[in-house]
Amino acid sequence: MCGIVGYVGPREAGPILMEGLRRLEYRGYDSAGIALVDEGGSLFVEKKAGKLENLRTAIADRTPHAAIGLAHTRWATHGRPNDLNAHPHQDCTGDLTVIHNGIIENFRELRDGLEARGHRLASETDTEALAHLIEEAYDGDLVEATRAALRQAEGAFALVVMHRGERDRLVGARRDVPLVIGLAAGESFVASDVSAILAHTDRVVFLENDDVVDLRPWGIEITGVDGAPRSRAVTVIDWTIEAAEKGGFDHFMLKEIHEQPEALRQAIAGRVRRAGRINVPELVPLGDVLARVNRVELVACGSAFYASMIGANALQAWTGLPTRATVGSEFRYDPPPLDERTLVIAVTQSGETADTIAPTRLARERGCPVIAVTNTVGSAITREADAVLFLQAGPEIAVAASKTFVTQVTTLVILAAGIAAALGRLPVDQELALGEALRALPDQAAWTVARNGPGMADLATRYMRSRGFMYIGRGASYPAALEGALKIKEVSYVHAEGYAAGELKHGPISLLDEDCPLVAIATRSHVYDKLISNVMEGRARGARVIAVATEGDPQIERFAEDVLWVPDTLDILSPILAIIPLQLFAYQVALARGTDVDQPRNLAKSVTVE
Ligand code: GLU
Repeated sequence: MCGIVGYVGPREAGPILMEGLRRLEYRGYDSAGIALVDEGGSLFVEKKAGKLENLRTAIADRTPHAAIGLAHTRWATHGRPNDLNAHPHQDCTGDLTVIHNGIIENFRELRDGLEARGHRLASETDTEALAHLIEEAYDGDLVEATRAALRQAEGAFALVVMHRGERDRLVGARRDVPLVIGLAAGESFVASDVSAILAHTDRVVFLENDDVVDLRPWGIEITGVDGAPRSRAVTVIDWTIEAAEKGGFDHFMLKEIHEQPEALRQAIAGRVRRAGRINVPELVPLGDVLARVNRVELVACGSAFYASMIGANALQAWTGLPTRATVGSEFRYDPPPLDERTLVIAVTQSGETADTIAPTRLARERGCPVIAVTNTVGSAITREADAVLFLQAGPEIAVAASKTFVTQVTTLVILAAGIAAALGRLPVDQELALGEALRALPDQAAWTVARNGPGMADLATRYMRSRGFMYIGRGASYPAALEGALKIKEVSYVHAEGYAAGELKHGPISLLDEDCPLVAIATRSHVYDKLISNVMEGRARGARVIAVATEGDPQIERFAEDVLWVPDTLDILSPILAIIPLQLFAYQVALARGTDVDQPRNLAKSVTVE
């Protein structure tokens, strides 16, 4: 999920790679490393936790003269962010080095098999298994060995491999994680994105899934994992470095909205088995603690709180346990009754949110078992928990949450199913239906972004001068309405309310008129008709209506001026898709109003104060 850069050619690789890593720093990372093969065929590897500066200091005057190398910034998913787990990783012979972004889902089986066959794995990472698999298959041809290893790997990856015996060759490959090749006269580059190589060349090749590239100074050859030749077009990039960091998008928020399919794929990775069964190995350390739980309390702030409301719905419905979500700052000073039978689930993207950490600590003091759900390995919340589920969404840079919200909902729903299954309360057919719906989500999210992106600027222009917006939803769509309203408040500074649709008539309906549109989340559900009644109440007061509706809904256009379409999914997962057009709407309204989309006034990404 973080940064990869590789070089092979006539120049000094060390400075090119370090500069490439510097260019990738914006992606966020927790450690960095580099490997170089010098003219004599010796391998030099250095890796350090923390900032790039640590690596720079460590290699300072030791960097060998080398014309080939690879470098990496890691954002840990498997194993703590320390020197040992930093990439590159090596095989048993020490001849091979591998850097990898993403997640190898079947790493447990692979590691067990490798260890049984006598390999010694030094790190806790999923990545290292790849180095040893390539070692096993290596017979003088690094491309063939990489292909053979990847045929055994499941999951998402961009990787680059180097063998000290083949000093004019890097091998790259990708599946569901971006990797780009840079071509120049007599030299070749490979990187996670073009910002790392744009200073050297504007001629690039974007790899596609299951491409394996043989990277030589004089050119490249692409094959599939199956060995069949593939051809890819060369693209000439006319982006500035700044635009390249944002993947060609104008803002990180828009980039991250577009990254949601990939983030969802990562969040689901390893948690939905091929047959559709839900798999939450993180619950194992809790042992039979779960069986004694008689109540569940979720604690979170902001978007994570809205995601927790959806998680609470799922947990309560599937486990039958009374479940509640509370904002951290309220929980902290007026806690509910807490004891060793109360399961507390703390949800924080950064893992450093003070308002979430303090109540979690309090719950621990009272003996509650704690599960943390966070995007950040090694963060403070992980030290307060008996079990941790990571979002695996990749770093999020825009202050307004997008991909971390959808992955929080996804992870919490998976967690709810995992707990219900552990308690024997989730019927298998229901579990399989959930598994199938989860697996469809990444493609559905991609469809939703593509479907709603193009017309959104125009829609935003028509609504940008509204005095305020009223977002409504019922059931799982109610927290989505809250999150939709929060998005537009955060980035466009327009006032918006999120309401349970049935509450409209109990007060806020007085706000509605032609200057305060209704944004109704009207996706298919058992309360669809009730929601439509609430839409009618708004229309009767002159409010224009923007509806988020399920693709194929035959009647919604009769009730709404504008419709934002999303694909059909299970009720409980519907907010994940419904929020996407609302994120795009908030983004475009903000753009039209000229606000600072990525760094809205008065807000910080991680709120570490009370
Ligand atoms: N899963 C790998 C690890 O934890 C790669 C992480 C990354 O994408 O940086 O080391």
